[in-house]
Amino acid sequence: MKKIVVLGGGYAGMRAIKKLAHAKLDAEIVLVNKNPYHYESTQLHQLAAGTREVSDITFDVRQVVPKNVKVIIDEVTHIDQKANRVDLKNGGPINYDYLVNCLGFESETFGIKGAEENGLSIVDVNTAEAARDHLEAAFKRYRTSHDENDLHVVVCGAGFTSIEYLGELAFRLPRLAKEYGFPMDKVRLDCIEAAPRILPMFDQKLSNWGVRYLEKRGVVFHTNTPITEVTPNAVMSNDTAYTANTIIWTTGVKGSHIIGDSDYDQKRNRVVVKDDLSIEGHPEEFLIGDVSAVPNPNNGRLYPTTAQISIAQADTAAANVVASINGQPTRKFVFKPLGTVCSLGPNAGIAMVEVFGHWKLKGVLAAIAKVFIADEAVLKLANLKTMLESK
Ligand SMILES: Cc1cc2nc3c(=O)[nH]c(=O)nc-3n(C[C@H](O)[C@H](O)[C@H](O)COP(=O)(O)OP(=O)(O)OC[C@H]3O[C@@H](n4cnc5c(N)ncnc54)[C@H](O)[C@@H]3O)c2cc1C
Repeated sequence: MKKIVVLGGGYAGMRAIKKLAHAKLDAEIVLVNKNPYHYESTQLHQLAAGTREVSDITFDVRQVVPKNVKVIIDEVTHIDQKANRVDLKNGGPINYDYLVNCLGFESETFGIKGAEENGLSIVDVNTAEAARDHLEAAFKRYRTSHDENDLHVVVCGAGFTSIEYLGELAFRLPRLAKEYGFPMDKVRLDCIEAAPRILPMFDQKLSNWGVRYLEKRGVVFHTNTPITEVTPNAVMSNDTAYTANTIIWTTGVKGSHIIGDSDYDQKRNRVVVKDDLSIEGHPEEFLIGDVSAVPNPNNGRLYPTTAQISIAQADTAAANVVASINGQPTRKFVFKPLGTVCSLGPNAGIAMVEVFGHWKLKGVLAAIAKVFIADEAVLKLANLKTMLESK
């Protein structure tokens, strides 16, 4: 009997497991995940800003995977591709015939001095909770410290996570001010970005609308401002210091360090995959989600890593494992993006949607689109009950 091992219970891993389990294979299927729960990475910014609780964005993996899947809660420490073996932190090693590698993303600091030590990243439940606790402690402290830096927040980077976090935080601020008794006019929200434009993947009018929306709620954007160092209380851009006691580090992500540590041919812990999502020289391994780099066949450029593409990849990877076991040819991965949505708090957003035509949405309609996409994602990973419970 063949053994299929899936690493990581994120969007890619959970979807791959669901597809494999329903394929009626005579095979052993194993899922290895660090935590007993799946977390919705696309909502981590809400946890970090305190507009959502952990229970809103997580569900128990063992309660939703089909009975023919064995779940191992452990941490992968190394993958030996030559020996077809996965090493774990606590348990013994696991051998595999087929591997679906979906170990996901980590924060990228680009080697900037002090970023890792002094910036709060938002990459999993623990880091998002730590960011929220740090922020709330600083706001609470202001009453006794009268240190204005306790009310200053600097967000590094202006990509999706930064903007979505700022939207949630700006929404929550008036309530936090009431709760902790600090003056709103002393709060400063700075967003520092090296590039000349905020959210360049959106149409200029839409991104301008998003920027204005956040500026009206107190966010100050600093574009063309490369970060050169992060200290415990300031973000430096050459000689200019943006001081704050809460520094959020959301400049970008890379793949899991396990990829870099395990001798893959990688760049920023991502591996360029073949058109069937396997990797060169290893037809038994499919690499999907944020650890993979997928060239768009139309222009040769890599697709951005998203939950949307991770779920689509999982369908192809699972089908290709089944085809390989059955001695059939694998199929090419074809991706049709459904569009891009960026929330600006719970009640607004901007979106470019590619469903039944091209739609440019802003305000509450975009926020609704985001909720539908999140719901659909949970439905694809788990079941209707889980989707309704995670509301
Ligand atoms: C705040 C935020 C908002 C986002 N919004 C959107 C959005 O609106 N739309 C969109 O499409 N994308 C969005 N993204 C991107 C999206 O979340 C990622 O592309 C997606 O999560 C990648 O899925 P994945 O399954 O590859 O990895 P992950 O979701 O990172 O899952 C990896 C899994 O592997 C587990 N794991 C990691 N290391 C180990 C180990 N060593 N051993 C065992 N298990 C391990 C983790 O615990 C996790 O369960 C957002 C990301 C963030 C941070």
